[in-house]
Amino acid sequence: MDSLHKKIPFNRPYMTGKELFYIAEAKFGGALAGDGPFTKKCHQWLESQFNIPKALLTHSCTAALEMAALLLDIAPGDEVIMPSFTFVSTANAFVLRGGVPVFVDIRADTLNIDESRIEAAITPRTRAIVPVHYAGVSCNMTAIMDIARRHGLKVVEDAAQGVMSRYQGKSLGAIGDLAAYSFHETKNVISGEGGALLINDPELVQRAEIIREKGTDRSRFFRGQVDKYTWQEVGSSFLPGELTAAFLWAQLEEAEFITSARLESWDYYYAGLQPLAARGLIRLPTIPDDCQHNAHMFYIVLDRSIDRAGLINYLREQNIITVFHYVPLHASPAGQRYGRVVGPMTTTVEVSDRLLRLPLYMRLKTQDQDRIITAINQFVK
Ligand SMILES: *Cc1c(COP(=O)(O)O)cnc(C)c1O
Repeated sequence: MDSLHKKIPFNRPYMTGKELFYIAEAKFGGALAGDGPFTKKCHQWLESQFNIPKALLTHSCTAALEMAALLLDIAPGDEVIMPSFTFVSTANAFVLRGGVPVFVDIRADTLNIDESRIEAAITPRTRAIVPVHYAGVSCNMTAIMDIARRHGLKVVEDAAQGVMSRYQGKSLGAIGDLAAYSFHETKNVISGEGGALLINDPELVQRAEIIREKGTDRSRFFRGQVDKYTWQEVGSSFLPGELTAAFLWAQLEEAEFITSARLESWDYYYAGLQPLAARGLIRLPTIPDDCQHNAHMFYIVLDRSIDRAGLINYLREQNIITVFHYVPLHASPAGQRYGRVVGPMTTTVEVSDRLLRLPLYMRLKTQDQDRIITAINQFVK
């Protein structure tokens, strides 16, 4: 009966097996600071795999979003439209520059920003829109890019969860003017902490390199384009060391395999939970026809009649770890201090109260998924 009680964690970081080998290679190569051979390999891989003009590794997705705010010259009072149902870094990056997050509601199907509510939130102070691709499922980027172009706004994709996902054939991260990926250990492709800034507007490339290198033109110096490097503008140290890039390289090599294995687990949940969805007790994720997702997350939205805290406890008693997700930013102390809401927040509030994320990681066994599905059925019967 041991397996009945064995713990099923919510997440289990996966390693391909080559990480330590590449870290040793970096160590013996003698390049430990940033922008060494492994960082270059990662940059080239991201650019060619996702068809992105310029990719720059950062030490986190948070750092990449902060770079985006610097690149767009966000100044005090500038407004940035985003969902409230997201991670704090989406908003923080702009608040650090004095920007004002303007929160709008999400769609009930994908839980992504409701594009039909964006235009009502635009004012003369609006500078950018930040769509967040929740669970690695794309926002309606056609509508969002169209609104941005018509109003002269920049688009920064928070594609933290969207590595390897596509929208109408394009990679997430390749659509907005700028985008940010995360390689945090809770994401699909990982380096512990890690991220990347994706630059699709070629005019922003040179400044991005400067901002990432403490505000200096050190990158141009190393390419022999200038004979000394100097302080050019405001910046910080946003680049990861080579050991992190070496770890990430091992993961990028297997990104395809990781994605397809996760999709198998995702599909297994989807099929197994279908009967509960048919009875209206839970809602399953929606993947629009023009989206190819990466199985970053498997969530269910519980019917109002189901007690979420009770279910989480019931599952925990059986050693199954499930978690809810974001406390909406507009309702959090800092969100109220720094942000503003436009329109109703009905879906954001409802979903944040009723959403439950199920364990999903590499090598999750189908027997364990069966155990999870059975336990959910027992609770909601
Ligand atoms: C994970 C995540 C981030 C932050 O990523 P870090 O790499 O941990 O900084 C930002 N936005 C969203 C939507 C995320 O899921």
